[in-house]
Amino acid sequence: MTSTRIHSRKRTTSSMNDFRMTIGGQPVAALRTEPVINPANATAFAEAPYCDEAQLDEAVRTAHAAYASWRARPWTVRRDLVLRMLDAVRRDSESLAELLTREQGKPLDKARGEVNSAIMFAQGYSDMAPRVERLRDTPTQRVEVHRRPLGVVAAITAWNYPLLLALWKIAPALLCGNTVVLKPSPQTPLTALRLGELSRGLLPDGVLNVVSGGDELGESLVRHRVVRKIAFTGSTEAGRQIMSAAGGDLKRLTLELGGNDAGIVLADVDPAAIAPDLFWAKFSNCGQVCAGLKRLFVHETVYEAVCAALVDVATGVKVGDGFAPGTQIGPIQNRAQFERMHALVAEARAAGARTLFEGSIPGGPGYFFPVTILDQVSPAMRVVREEAFGPVLTIQPFHDVEDALRRANDSCYGLGGSVWSGDLAAAEALAQRLESGSAWVNQHPSMGPDIPFAGVKQSGFGVEFSRAGLDQYTDLQVVNLKLA
Ligand code: NAD
Repeated sequence: MTSTRIHSRKRTTSSMNDFRMTIGGQPVAALRTEPVINPANATAFAEAPYCDEAQLDEAVRTAHAAYASWRARPWTVRRDLVLRMLDAVRRDSESLAELLTREQGKPLDKARGEVNSAIMFAQGYSDMAPRVERLRDTPTQRVEVHRRPLGVVAAITAWNYPLLLALWKIAPALLCGNTVVLKPSPQTPLTALRLGELSRGLLPDGVLNVVSGGDELGESLVRHRVVRKIAFTGSTEAGRQIMSAAGGDLKRLTLELGGNDAGIVLADVDPAAIAPDLFWAKFSNCGQVCAGLKRLFVHETVYEAVCAALVDVATGVKVGDGFAPGTQIGPIQNRAQFERMHALVAEARAAGARTLFEGSIPGGPGYFFPVTILDQVSPAMRVVREEAFGPVLTIQPFHDVEDALRRANDSCYGLGGSVWSGDLAAAEALAQRLESGSAWVNQHPSMGPDIPFAGVKQSGFGVEFSRAGLDQYTDLQVVNLKLA
């Protein structure tokens, strides 16, 4: 790495136009930069460094060099250092939230919520002290299971929750004694770069490295021989490619992928009472939530009433610039996704879908998409079959609950699912038959640092959160002593 790329070690707060990567505890510029677009006005507002192959190699090697001493520190020391980093995040939370709104588009109060939630989940992991499991303890033999760190973890993240997804990976990886190279989405690299900056001088050099660039940078990181684990959140297609690339040297994998969650509304609900929760189950974060509600199945006896109640809620919702007071839903995060959502809706309408509701959007060049509720849809339509990652909800009536369950499970995805009913026992029994990693009753989604989160089928591989999620950043070692 040339000296011109390494800048002063002094901790400074980057301005809106001066974002550096973090490699070996140093701020590092790149020879090339890429514009970062504000989706509310489709205009570039900052430049992000575009990491080259030599810099990526440097980041992985510096993480590897830092690993030996980091893993040797006691859990309590690592935990205190991670908590120090979280304190810095907390102190910077308002500027991080503003940056999130600018690069991701979400309303400022939701961006503040994302920062708080990221800290809360990371702290949740820090409360899970490691344990040693004693399997046998006899006069002749003692057998224990220990958890050992893996080495360098590559954390690769999507653009819908840039800070949350980053800390969901960094915190458990570091706490367990691994070191990290984080590569955020090229659509939303700035909060991750800021996170790297905040960590400088708080974590030992090389323990957390943040590089920015496109999909091919992610591919190079996955293929790097020194990397021992990939912690990935993104599309199922990229997850497939990563799984196959990681096979060469059997890297460990956690893949949190796409979802096409179903919700089943039974005949005994109070439509007006559940409508706000159903609505936000779909439309929060502009419908860009992996485990958001995407396909709604409603019993025919309450179908008209549920549709009407949802339209009532939708009518009062404000779509706009995340910085504008009162905005509840921001723009779609990027042009490609914006165009894809337009295509899915146009195709569905051409094939006979009915528009129950289409909201209004501000004028101008931003990627604003109206809140859209469609019915008279069929499973053959892409808006039903594929993941509609945007503010479009499809609703289908059902007569027989077994038929609803079959249709809900008729998907290659299996992230979350929900059942809505006043009869908790009936709802729970049905929820347990959903082919999904999480099955919710009268809510969708609901997550916490102590609750495992995992996808089945093509929604994922591995677990996040809880001790099960923490353990994903370790291998187990059996220590087996012959005592006599
Ligand atoms: P994406 O797969 O296009 O990109 C995600 C990240 O992977 C980016 O950093 C990208 O540069 C990188 N990448 C892409 N191809 C790669 C490859 N072959 N090798 C290595 N890295 C690669 O996804 P996206 O469009 O950024 O995000 C939207 C998707 O993420 C949706 O499908 C959504 O459901 C999913 N998601 C899942 C979860 C979950 O927890 N299951 C959470 C959030 C988002």
